[in-house]
Amino acid sequence: MTAAIIDGKAAAAALREQIATEVARLRETDDLQPGLAVVLVGEDPASQVYVRNKGRQTVEAGMLSHTHRLRDDTSETELLALVADLNADPTVHGILVQLPLPPQIDEQRVICAIDPAKDVDGFHPLNAGALANGDPGALAPCTPVGCLLLLREQFDNDLAGQHALVIGRSNIVGKPMAQLLLQESCTVTIAHSRTRDLPALCRHADIVVAAVGRPGMVRGDWLKPGAVVIDVGINRLPGEGDKARLVGDVAFAEAREVAGAITPVPGGVGPMTIACLLRNTVVAACRQAAVASRL
Ligand code: NDP
Repeated sequence: MTAAIIDGKAAAAALREQIATEVARLRETDDLQPGLAVVLVGEDPASQVYVRNKGRQTVEAGMLSHTHRLRDDTSETELLALVADLNADPTVHGILVQLPLPPQIDEQRVICAIDPAKDVDGFHPLNAGALANGDPGALAPCTPVGCLLLLREQFDNDLAGQHALVIGRSNIVGKPMAQLLLQESCTVTIAHSRTRDLPALCRHADIVVAAVGRPGMVRGDWLKPGAVVIDVGINRLPGEGDKARLVGDVAFAEAREVAGAITPVPGGVGPMTIACLLRNTVVAACRQAAVASRL
C-alpha cells in the first residue's frame, strides 16, 4: 500500500479563501476589518521570511497588516512598550511577536504582556489554560490547529476513539496538539526524549504527530499499517550548492509504504500554520467587536 499524500498547500489555500470571504463580509456588514500586528526583533533570516509571508497573506485576505521591525539590540522595556501600544490600538485585533527573541529579552515576560484577547499565537498562559480546560473557544496555537484541521479532513470530522501518539511536548506544538486531540475524544499518548520504546508505542497508534526536530527519526517499520502521519518537523539539511534541503521528522519514503496518509515536508503542515494565524485573528476580531464569526 502506498499512502495518500495530504496536500497542506491545497488545504491552506482553501482555508485562506474561506477567511477572505468572511473578512469581506465583516467589512461589508459590520464595518470590521480584522488587523494583525507582527513584531520582529533582529535580522534572523528564517524569521524575516516568515514575517514577510505573514504580512503578504494578511493583506491578500483583506485584513490590515502592521509589521514592526525592531533592532537586534532592542531592550525588553522598549518591546514591552510597543506591546502595550498594540494592546491599546483598536485597529489591531491580533498581536504576534516572532520567536525566538534575542537573549536580552525574556520571552515569557513578553508573551504574558500581550492582551490574551489579542494573543493569536495562543501562547499566553490564560489561553493555554483555557485549552487545557477544554474550552472550545480558546485561542489555540496555530501549528497544532493546522494539524487538527488536516486530521479532521482525513477522518471525516470524527476522530473519536482513535489512538493518537504525539511525539514532542513543547508548549508551541506537542502539548497543545495533545490537548486538541483529547478534545476530539482521541486516546492520546505524549512521547518525549525520555520515553521508553517509542517504536512499540508508535505501532499502536492510528495517528502519529511527529514534532521533534530530528530528521527522519520516525521509521517506516515503527508505523501501524494504515496510520495517518502528520509530520511537523522542519529540519534543514545541506542540499545542492548552498541551498538547504527541508526534511521532516519522519523517514518519508519508508513511511509512505506503510501509512494510510502522510503529510510531506515541505507542503504539509507548514502552509497551514499561517492560514490558522489569519483564522485566529478573524475570530479574535469578531470577539473584540462582539459580532458573530462564521469561521
Ligand atoms: P522543541 O525542541 O521545543 O521540542 C522538541 C520535542 O521533541 C521535545 O519535547 C523533546 O523532548 C522531544 N524529543 C527530542 N528528542 C526526542 C527523541 N529522541 N524521542 C522522542 N522525543 C524527542 O521543538 P518544537 O516543538 O518547537 O518543534 C518541533 C519541530 O517542529 C521542529 O522541527 C520545528 O522546526 C518544527 N515546527 C514546525 C512548524 C510548522 O509550521 N510546520 C511550527 C513549529 C515547529 P523533551 O521535552 O524531553 O526534551
